[in-house]
Amino acid sequence: MSKSFATRAFPRRQPGPRFQVYTLADLEKGTIPHLQAFSEERLLLMRAVAHVLPFRVNRYVVEELIDWERVPDDPLFQLTFPQPGMLAPEDLDVMTSLLRRDAPAAEIKAAVAAIRTRLNPHPAGQLHLNRPRAADGTPIDGLQHKYRETVLFFPSQGQTCHSYCTFCFRWAQFIGDKSLRMASREAAVMHDYLRRHPKVTDLLLTGGDPLVMKTRHLADYLEPLLGPDFEHVRTIRIGTKSLSFWPYRYLDEDADELLRLLEKLVAGGKHVALMAHYNHWRELETPAARRAIARVRSTGAVIRAQGPLIAHVNDDPETWARLWQTQVQLGIVPYYMFVERDTGARRYFEVPLVRCWQIYREAVQRVSGLGRTARGPSMSATPGKVEVQGVAEIGGEKVFVLRFLQGRNPDWVQRPFFARFDAEATWLDQLKPAFGDDKFFFEDELAAMLQADRRGGSS
Ligand SMILES: *Cc1c(COP(=O)(O)O)cnc(C)c1O
Ligand code: SF4
Repeated sequence: MSKSFATRAFPRRQPGPRFQVYTLADLEKGTIPHLQAFSEERLLLMRAVAHVLPFRVNRYVVEELIDWERVPDDPLFQLTFPQPGMLAPEDLDVMTSLLRRDAPAAEIKAAVAAIRTRLNPHPAGQLHLNRPRAADGTPIDGLQHKYRETVLFFPSQGQTCHSYCTFCFRWAQFIGDKSLRMASREAAVMHDYLRRHPKVTDLLLTGGDPLVMKTRHLADYLEPLLGPDFEHVRTIRIGTKSLSFWPYRYLDEDADELLRLLEKLVAGGKHVALMAHYNHWRELETPAARRAIARVRSTGAVIRAQGPLIAHVNDDPETWARLWQTQVQLGIVPYYMFVERDTGARRYFEVPLVRCWQIYREAVQRVSGLGRTARGPSMSATPGKVEVQGVAEIGGEKVFVLRFLQGRNPDWVQRPFFARFDAEATWLDQLKPAFGDDKFFFEDELAAMLQADRRGGSS
């Protein structure tokens, strides 16, 4: 890479272990040494789940993040290994009996397909909505433009991750079903779109995990943004779990090239943010994780942290308080706490909205103001990002106080609105307007927007 700009000395590289993953095949063959103490029955249940929902975990996660003394309750084990509760009991029964009698592959495949169709991979209508169009009106794959200022781009080489999270709603992208994949091969298409949309200030590269890509591919997308056509793109964000799942991405071969790229974008005047996905403070504790964070920060890029609240992983205030505190200590900015959206394994991972709010509130109370920059709990729903601000009693009615943090219409943002209290509700679509109203204030406008979108209105 060129040395025409000033390069600071990065904290020293630290070559690590080889990147190696375990998948369903390893569960089937029994080649994961850490599972040796598990009963046959437990292993069968894990295999049953892993046939339906993708399983992939790398050796760093297995050897350095999971606390095997505390398995199966260990949060990092829950985060990455298939759990029996992830399938409905009847589906789990179907799968275990097929595996128990060594059913033919075709029969297993058919059962898996039937279960998967009942799981809903794109709950917020992501696939059909918000898909921008090219100048000639054809939809552009791999781009999403829902909020005026920010364009999401899903590079096609970034549609996988260093390990898979058990709760992840993007599983449909990982199982190779082309019709469900949101991806693009074309940096040129992205550049063309950004050139034509001068109101866009933020580009957010997401996946999967864009940092599974080699730096030279990443550079094809990002370096051109330093050119005069893209002065309006002030912020480049990269959504990633690699700081947690594979910190050697920042320490190993190709790491210096990556850091130089980040540094070059910063030197070129961009705000560069790694939108780091964290679920638990233990992800921040290993020497490799800490060194990776220090190296990223030395480039001038900012690490902002976000992650969902997940049952069995982080559904308690102590965990969040310690997570935010540790992030602040390491120079990471807490950004969002998400409510887990409606996914295949929702029953197992979901947390009622009222509980999410209590956890958020109790966690916030335990940290100083610097740890309170995470907004939430926030639902990324069809109309926008909706935050549960709390529970109140207004005119004798117990209500949820809600607000948009992001709206399909920017005018909705920061307008408080109210829903009838519901102790069990886990998502916006289960909430009813308070005070006897028959609709939320945004519903008619949203319906009109969705209809225009379906008719192929231009972006
Ligand atoms: C969250 C999100 C963004 C970014 O929103 P910010 O509030 O600016 O972080 C952009 N697009 C989509 C679809 C999102 O869900
Ligand atoms: S890292 Fe992100 S995209 Fe990848 S499996 Fe986890 S939640 Fe899903």
